[in-house]
Amino acid sequence: MMTVRDLRKRFGDTEVIKGVDLDIHEGEVVVVIGPSGSGKSTLIRCLNNLEPATSGEIVLTGARSSRESMARLREEVGMVFQDYTLFPHLSILRNMTLAPMKLRGLSRADAEAQAMKLLERVGLAHKAQAFPGELSGGQQQRVAIVRALAMQPRLMLFDEPTSALDPETVNEVLLVMKELAAEGMTMVVVTHEMGFAREVADRVIVFDGGQIVECAPPAQLFAAPREARTQQFLAHVL
Ligand code: ATP
Ligand code: MG
Repeated sequence: MMTVRDLRKRFGDTEVIKGVDLDIHEGEVVVVIGPSGSGKSTLIRCLNNLEPATSGEIVLTGARSSRESMARLREEVGMVFQDYTLFPHLSILRNMTLAPMKLRGLSRADAEAQAMKLLERVGLAHKAQAFPGELSGGQQQRVAIVRALAMQPRLMLFDEPTSALDPETVNEVLLVMKELAAEGMTMVVVTHEMGFAREVADRVIVFDGGQIVECAPPAQLFAAPREARTQQFLAHVL
């Protein structure tokens, strides 16, 4: 699905991503954990070219060149952020139809039909005419997820999608993500939700100091972490 080779990102004199190699396979759920400031958000933003990498290669399978791949990243890779990123001045329906109409050339009728189906799927069809400010945080994140799905992405990136939510609404968002994973969506998820990692991840990456410290299936990683830095981090969060 995606191959990342020696990815590096520098802000001024500081190298924040220090040579990442990663293969993301079709249908796989990769969870990224690690301390604050370790570069998780920067890494994930590089993966859809929201943040241009300083060097290295990101290739989507099926692309003929790294250049073509970069052009396709934005269209084929969906992203959901920590803070709800819905356009506040547009209705939920308009939020959903904007990109499919502009970037995929759907007619308004087709975009709206698709949007309503997606909203139904997360139980929010009745909010189509509401504005983001009228929805709870969890509802807004569910819209953000299906809004990304409206672009029919091949890969979905999540950057701490539940961190800004009230504890009681965290689960409604995790449930949508679990359903997506069960349907076979390829996903990279930065999260502090270790329960989600245990239950859903195929692989967990421990990220620290701009590098992958350890990468293993969750059962193995949580039960028997190999690296001292993983052990330290898990001691804090488990
Ligand atoms: P958190 O868990 O707190 O979200 P993180 O692992 O996502 O942290 P990043 O946000 O990727 O970490 O930040 C990694 C480092 O890069 C930090 O030291 C941060 O200050 C720095 N950084 C991130 N974005 C920029 C930027 N646009 N300009 C300069 N430095 C940046
Ligand atoms: Mg972050």
